[in-house]
Amino acid sequence: MYRGTKSWWNGKVTTLCGLEIPSGQASSPWFTGPACPSCEAIHKARKNGGK
Ligand SMILES: [Zn+2]
Repeated sequence: MYRGTKSWWNGKVTTLCGLEIPSGQASSPWFTGPACPSCEAIHKARKNGGK
């Protein structure tokens, strides 16, 4: 799966690794498949307080 933020104005999801997922596709398989290594790495880095 990917990690990302959903735009409140158009519903488009931008993942941590830079992919843009159009509104309506922000469920499967983007967020149900295997973990995206890039997203996980960035997510962990942020969680650890990295700048
Ligand atoms: Zn990713």
